[in-house]
Amino acid sequence: MSLPRTKLVKKEEVAEQTMAFEFEKPAGFSYKAGQFADYTLIDPPDTDQEGNTRGFSLSSAPYEPNLMCTTRIRDTAFKRVLKDMPIGTELELDAPYGSFTLHNKVARSAVFLTGGIGITPVRSIALQSVHDQTGHTIIVFASNKRPEDAAFLDELKSLGESNVNVTFVATMTEPENSHQPWDGETGVIDQNMISRYVEDLSTPIYYLCGPAGLVKAMRSLLNGAGVDDDDIRTEEFTGY
Ligand SMILES: Cc1cc2nc3c(=O)[nH]c(=O)nc-3n(C[C@H](O)[C@H](O)[C@H](O)COP(=O)(O)OP(=O)(O)OC[C@H]3O[C@@H](n4cnc5c(N)ncnc54)[C@H](O)[C@@H]3O)c2cc1C
Repeated sequence: MSLPRTKLVKKEEVAEQTMAFEFEKPAGFSYKAGQFADYTLIDPPDTDQEGNTRGFSLSSAPYEPNLMCTTRIRDTAFKRVLKDMPIGTELELDAPYGSFTLHNKVARSAVFLTGGIGITPVRSIALQSVHDQTGHTIIVFASNKRPEDAAFLDELKSLGESNVNVTFVATMTEPENSHQPWDGETGVIDQNMISRYVEDLSTPIYYLCGPAGLVKAMRSLLNGAGVDDDDIRTEEFTGY
């Protein structure tokens, strides 16, 4: 059975070496905030042994008109083709997949611990929760080297400022290498930092997202703080 096709409608740089790509939402397509999609290039001008398909979280929220994926641009055949792709180009879309989605019980807050590009499904979840007025308390920790590297920094900052249910905590691990002033949190996400924003570490559901190393480090931090694995959900970005 052939997969549905989708058309590129917009592309823009959302951080250094980081681009967001928007695609038409195929008729009848629906997904939950936090899920991902497999995108396949059709007859690309360049390819390598990693092939023509990549999985990316849907960084768009389901209520938004387009589908969006956001990725670090590296020098791989797939990303060279994606970056240079003319508007209107078609791709195959295999989706939605995954269960990195918001829990139902509003009484338990959702704490997201993300590194770098791991912010993508969290943008979707936070925007959708605010849009649907689910009432969840959402606390997002986003770690990057510098503000220049942080996708959706301004958007999530203002989402937090304009919604009592959302707290956005960005931290920079190398602010000294930035050309922009930074007066927010600095250093890696640790128990001390989390405790400044989360009163009782045993009550939230935790969502860890990003490269494998980040997910592993955050899980071990939480386990060390007494958080049960039952209260931890993860989305590991392979390939980084
Ligand atoms: C559920 C899920 C959701 C994901 N969501 C996202 C997302 O939202 N955004 C996103 O960007 N990615 C996401 N990923 C990861 C994505 O699928 C790709 O694996 C990733 O973007 C790397 O693709 P690539 O073309 O750069 O590297 P690939 O061509 O796939 O290369 C993979 C291998 O080559 C190595 N490699 C390639 N280039 C370099 C380089 N420049 N330096 C060092 N090593 C290199 C990698 O370490 C890796 O071992 C997700 C993965 C999963 C499983």
